[in-house]
Amino acid sequence: MIASTSIHIERTTTPKAKPPQDKLGFGIYFTDHMFIMNYTADEGWHQSRIVPYQPITLDPAAKVFHYGQTVFEGLKAYKTADGRVQVFRPDANMRRMNLSNDRMSMPEIPTDLVLDAIKGLTHIDQDWIPDGEGNSLYIRPFIIATEALLGVQPSQAYTFMIIMSPVGAYYPEGINPVKIFVESHYVRAMIGGVGEAKTAGNYAAGLKAQDAAKEQGYTQVLWLDGAEHKYIEEVGSMNVFFKIDGTVYTPSLNGSILDGITRNSVIQLLRHWQVPVVERQLSIEEIYEAGKNGKLEEAFGTGTAAVISPVGELNWLGVKLVINGGATGGLSEKLYNNLTGIQYGKLEDEFNWMVEV
Ligand code: PMP
Repeated sequence: MIASTSIHIERTTTPKAKPPQDKLGFGIYFTDHMFIMNYTADEGWHQSRIVPYQPITLDPAAKVFHYGQTVFEGLKAYKTADGRVQVFRPDANMRRMNLSNDRMSMPEIPTDLVLDAIKGLTHIDQDWIPDGEGNSLYIRPFIIATEALLGVQPSQAYTFMIIMSPVGAYYPEGINPVKIFVESHYVRAMIGGVGEAKTAGNYAAGLKAQDAAKEQGYTQVLWLDGAEHKYIEEVGSMNVFFKIDGTVYTPSLNGSILDGITRNSVIQLLRHWQVPVVERQLSIEEIYEAGKNGKLEEAFGTGTAAVISPVGELNWLGVKLVINGGATGGLSEKLYNNLTGIQYGKLEDEFNWMVEV
């Protein structure tokens, strides 16, 4: 499919060599092209174009550098066994991007044009989508405030870009449980803050706790609420679910939690399978209580990168809680197989999640 005629296309004359399939990692290599468009208060969004991947030049006074007015998204394109290329729920990502824009006082993006841009760019660089189980093309749309002015007011100029990176399998040796440190000092976000926006500062704010957890041998942190350090929010940059006595629980979207697209898809799948699923405030104490009583059956994170990430152990204030003997639970496995089955075109797309390019 060709991008909307309003998107100007300039193809590269010097295509890069593709990276070796076994060295893809995450976000290391970038494809031959990128999408870019500009915004000014007078003209709105304009000059949408696909151009060769290249550096950009910005004024050092650009507001993004000083006040962090920026948002981003993350989604993936997959190649099916019969050679089709499909993107997982790009419409949901663009809706979320506009919610982030609104929270960060940034202009709304035209979702139809941007969906065309995602499709057009993925189509042009489809040779970059690696074959092979678990490999995919990560798509990173983002917007930065470019006005060169140090006053603390919303920028009057922005640049929207999409870059893409071939990424390797998250679980090259099969889905694997992780150990998680329950963070009781640092917080990721507060109700009333910007936790539900996908904005850079949330990630910078999380690095210190993430590093400390890694030093102690944990893969990630479990974030608790900012006011009382009592209620569960997210795990690293994933949403989190717990299966207790046959029912699946996940923290309700309270304003400081990102509304994950994998989270939403998991909830839809569980409801479809008639597995009871409850969105509510969840305390870390009740999770430990359920663990002690033998009722905590599974815990897992959900997100675009790993899809499903089983949690095998928690450490809260020095007390360790092993979940499901540290092994991957049956429901985690089933969700992983169903979501990736739909993404790679092996299972029927009953929910119309995949958008063909
Ligand atoms: N929470 C945070 C903070 C995230 O960065 C992400 C990744 N986008 C998620 C949750 C999971 O969201 P999604 O399922 O849309 O990838």
